Amino acid sequence: MDVLVIGGGITGAGIVRDAVMRGLRVGLVERGDFASGTSSRSSKLIHGGLRYLAQGDIPLVMEAARERRCLTEIAPHLALSARMVVPVRGRTTAGLLKLRAGMWSFEKMAKVEAEDRHEIWRTEELVSHIAGLETERLQGAAVYTEYITDDARLTLETLKSAKRHGALLANYAPAVSIEEIGRASSGNGGSSSTTGLRVGVRDELSGKELRIEATVVVNAAGPWVDEVRNLSGGAKPRIQLTKGIHLVIPRERLPVDDIVVATAADRRMAFVVPHGDVVWIGTTDTFYRKPEERPTITREDVDYLLAAVNTNWPEARIGDDDVRGAWAGVRPLVAQEGKSPSEISRRHEILIEPNGLVSIGGGKLTTYRQMAERVVDQVLERLDRTADPCRTADIPLVEDGEPVAMARTTLGEDDVKVALEEECALSVPDVLERRIRANLFAADNGLSHVESVADAVGSRAGWNDQRRDREIADYRARIAEDVAWREGSQ
Ligand SMILES: Cc1cc2nc3c(=O)[nH]c(=O)nc-3n(C[C@H](O)[C@H](O)[C@H](O)COP(=O)(O)OP(=O)(O)OC[C@H]3O[C@@H](n4cnc5c(N)ncnc54)[C@H](O)[C@@H]3O)c2cc1C
Repeated sequence: MDVLVIGGGITGAGIVRDAVMRGLRVGLVERGDFASGTSSRSSKLIHGGLRYLAQGDIPLVMEAARERRCLTEIAPHLALSARMVVPVRGRTTAGLLKLRAGMWSFEKMAKVEAEDRHEIWRTEELVSHIAGLETERLQGAAVYTEYITDDARLTLETLKSAKRHGALLANYAPAVSIEEIGRASSGNGGSSSTTGLRVGVRDELSGKELRIEATVVVNAAGPWVDEVRNLSGGAKPRIQLTKGIHLVIPRERLPVDDIVVATAADRRMAFVVPHGDVVWIGTTDTFYRKPEERPTITREDVDYLLAAVNTNWPEARIGDDDVRGAWAGVRPLVAQEGKSPSEISRRHEILIEPNGLVSIGGGKLTTYRQMAERVVDQVLERLDRTADPCRTADIPLVEDGEPVAMARTTLGEDDVKVALEEECALSVPDVLERRIRANLFAADNGLSHVESVADAVGSRAGWNDQRRDREIADYRARIAEDVAWREGSQ
């Protein structure tokens, strides 16, 4: 094959879609389930780029704004427009005026459409929209448009589009080795020129290992990028992980209609995001040692977010018992020495190893399409080929049929059928956590459906009773684990 992509998060999904649509022969292998890494654990916002203006990162501002526009065109069902309200406090209106000036330059620079431009709310208007907000030193708010997405669904729809265009995809298929073709197998006197890479891939279902040869291999393993780089030899680490957590509470406990920025104790911004009958609050940003699918949520993480909410809504008194669910993820950032977690740039970087392995680190969900385009341009250079131009900005993710709505919490028979037959779901969490999102947003975290889902997956996969019961118990344990910080057991 021309290109093998390692990693089925949003970065790998974007790359495989772009590559196949340019006419290349492409495959993708994912260690666990598609989107089981960071790409199901973000704040689920398509950022316009304003936040990068404060860091002076103009190229990233432009890129995020352009990509946001593009996503609303190719996947409007996965980019729900919402008002973002940024309350400003101070003794005078200076802070509000400064923010207004920043917004104005951002909108000009990012060519923001007239209907998406900001407005300023004075205090009276602000408190009439956002009930219960602390009014001390409140001067008003800047209000602008942001977009809410379903990160895992965006990843799945991108992969499904790639599959429709001819890409080969496998989940539960970790890459376990990488070797050069030619150099490694030729021995004494053989050719030393590298013609590609051979990747050892383990099929987790059968336990068998197969070898896939590709002219170019792209490492899009997110938090595991350094680990995959090391499959072919000692590579100097380049990825710095930072962890972010989110808490989910019933919307009736914090009845907001807009995304609201709550300033935390360290002046960072925490987002309060309403969707359906829940509100999610996030996020934190702390260094994290090693990549994990389910990073640990600590008591300290939770207290930080609860304090941010309760300082901004003093009467709400949100406590542990209000938390219906929680999730944590790690950002695969490109390391920058001496910087704090929030100061590290969110830009991406493409790394090429001496053996030709192409790795991509950093970036955002919002900018995944542009990142993919750059990677595929590099791939074509390495293949020394011309190909069709990039079309991912023009062709919708769902070209025919009904798009699957985002972050559903109800479960019909048809939902489950799509998950199993079209979306390669192979376990109970695959269905309830990433295809339905019931673990996060359903009132009972999907627990009332766990047995029927286990039956549906099990009858397709040929599970015996023991396996079925183990899957059910595992799902229940995962839900309990998400709120284990309540016991102070971390
Ligand atoms: C708390 C938090 C909030 C965020 N909020 C936002 C936001 O609101 N908006 C935004 O734009 N961005 C946001 N981001 C950033 C965004 O989520 C990430 O940039 C993006 O999801 C990274 O995707 P990825 O595909 O690179 O990594 P991942 O999604 O982690 O995908 C990498 C995949 O590689 C697989 N893999 C690893 N090793 C192997 C192997 N050996 N073989 C095969 N597969 C392998 C993993 O299982 C994983 O599925 C946030 C991130 C965090 C942590």
